[in-house]
Amino acid sequence: MKLILLGAPGAGKGTQAEKISTKYGIPSVSTGEILRAAIKDNTALGMEAKSFMDRGDLVPDAVVIGIIKEYLSSDNCKNGFILDGFPRSIPQAEALDAMGVTIDAVLDIEVDDAKIVERMSGRRVCLTCGATHHVVYNPPKKEGICDKCGKELTIRKDDAPETVLSRLETYHNITEPLKDYYSKKGNLVVVEGQEQVDETTKLVFEALSRFE
Ligand code: AMP
Repeated sequence: MKLILLGAPGAGKGTQAEKISTKYGIPSVSTGEILRAAIKDNTALGMEAKSFMDRGDLVPDAVVIGIIKEYLSSDNCKNGFILDGFPRSIPQAEALDAMGVTIDAVLDIEVDDAKIVERMSGRRVCLTCGATHHVVYNPPKKEGICDKCGKELTIRKDDAPETVLSRLETYHNITEPLKDYYSKKGNLVVVEGQEQVDETTKLVFEALSRFE
């Protein structure tokens, strides 16, 4: 299965990507996670991306298209993949088409803005393995510690309230038109994000079952 996850920042793409990845045995790739790892490691890519990310702006298309091109050509993706956070603009979607990649489904997780702002304030991420938790909706078993790898959880710098508003604006202006783009291609599936992670997962699995 070749899948794209669409949705506002904080809609739960990363969390659902993990669930889908486990169920279908396909890798999930998050451009945001790759970029955060590059910043942590102080690589040239990280240095290029950092100021955009700190402001809540999108990293230039050419940079993320390059990351995805390299990733999709790896053996890892032979049997399918989940793209979490890519494409995020029409030029990125066109670049994916130009790579000759055929996508089976584009899953859009809908959550309204007020809920997003509330959710982001409780989000905690693991910079070691990329897992995402939430203090209320998806709490780690041990406070401040990642369930998946046992390392410390942190608050993302770009989850600060004023940056979240700017990221939402970017989402509505630049990313949301992708819904129309994929709807016209006939492979858009919309799921309403629920309060509880498991409830959303149930809807996601139901929606994906028709692409098996
Ligand atoms: P995410 O973890 O998906 O919320 O991404 C965090 C940040 O990484 C975004 O706010 C952007 O600055 C950057 N980023 C991730 N994916 C993309 C993309 N496809 N295009 C441009 N910037 C991206």
